[in-house]
Amino acid sequence: MGKLHAMSANRQSGRKQHTPLAQARRVVIKVGSALLVDARTGRLNRAWLETLIADLLRLRRRGQQLILVSSGAIALGRRHLGLAPGPLRLEESQAAAAVGQIRLAHAYKELLEPHEVTVAQVLLTLEDSEQRTRYLNARATLETLLALGALPVINENDTVATAEIRYGDNDRLAARVAQMASADCLVLLSDVDGLYTADPNRDPQAQFIERVEEITPQIEAMAGRPSSDLGSGGMATKIAAARIAVGAGCHMCIAAGHHRHPLKHLEGRGRSTWFMPHSTPVAARKQWIAGTLRPAGAVHIDAGALQALHSGRSLLPAGVTGTRGRFESGDTISVLSADGIEVARGVTAYSDQDTSRIMGRRSIEIATLLGFHGREELIHRDDLVILRPQPVPPAAAVSVSEAAP
Ligand code: GLU
Repeated sequence: MGKLHAMSANRQSGRKQHTPLAQARRVVIKVGSALLVDARTGRLNRAWLETLIADLLRLRRRGQQLILVSSGAIALGRRHLGLAPGPLRLEESQAAAAVGQIRLAHAYKELLEPHEVTVAQVLLTLEDSEQRTRYLNARATLETLLALGALPVINENDTVATAEIRYGDNDRLAARVAQMASADCLVLLSDVDGLYTADPNRDPQAQFIERVEEITPQIEAMAGRPSSDLGSGGMATKIAAARIAVGAGCHMCIAAGHHRHPLKHLEGRGRSTWFMPHSTPVAARKQWIAGTLRPAGAVHIDAGALQALHSGRSLLPAGVTGTRGRFESGDTISVLSADGIEVARGVTAYSDQDTSRIMGRRSIEIATLLGFHGREELIHRDDLVILRPQPVPPAAAVSVSEAAP
């Protein structure tokens, strides 16, 4: 085992600066309960957390946008409620989370504010990532927080999430957040340093895997059982998270987080397992939009809007001339040219009813027309896929033929 470790550390050291972490524009970092909370005392590992915060500040200084997904609410809260060690009933976990979350958020605020970083607490449930309107709202909030320079600290809203609608583990939640935020890198800081061909605690022949290009059934079979008492995720939830992340064009890495300065360690000689995506976050999202089997409805647009779409701009209500079918905000709809041809597809920010009220009007009129401040675009360019190349305008065609010998 030791030999294998030394071997992979040496092999990795030469290319560390070029890891997906260093190159990412937007990074999601997930910290497990076992790292944040001392198993013996049930208290926050503050000294360790300070070193993580120093790492986060360094990444921000090199221009990277960060989102932290932090576990630890239940593990921190249980002591204050006098709950005995061992598994908790759902209601007990929910109560512990209510007590622990406030402490967790406070710790992040205390540690980051002296560095002039504004911390934003975001508590999500499964529905926020599964239900389209809520997904879009959460996505827009994260985007706004990042644009304003805040550091979102996310956890599951354990206090209200019942058994059926619960993630229960922050590995998959973090992957959904990475997908929602179109992040290019997700780091799961854990009490394991990566994926092995078998459980290394039981099988001395177990080999470490540095890089996974494809999540095959064989890779899935390597996932062992949870290895810590505090967190609820094991290797299985990490592989499930990897599926979500790489499907969204995001690199994902599993790394041991117990070292001081865990991200510096990861970028230095630390070993980790990287799961490689086959596309970028934007391409993955566009692929998903283009692949929608049955768009919920459609809008007709005028020639000016068609031109704007072809030059890479968003679809504004001003260019819409009509709607077809029933659709809600967050649905994928078709965009039809004046002659009824599907020219694009995208995720609409407005329902068909709201669209008919604002179509043909300028975006600044939206608030007056609808009674709320909605988004400026009907379909944002990041949520839009052009299905047909631009037809050659007749004038251009003539000038080409005239110029020909
Ligand atoms: N949301 C849980 C907490 O904050 C942790 C879930 C997990 O262990 O991944 O305590």
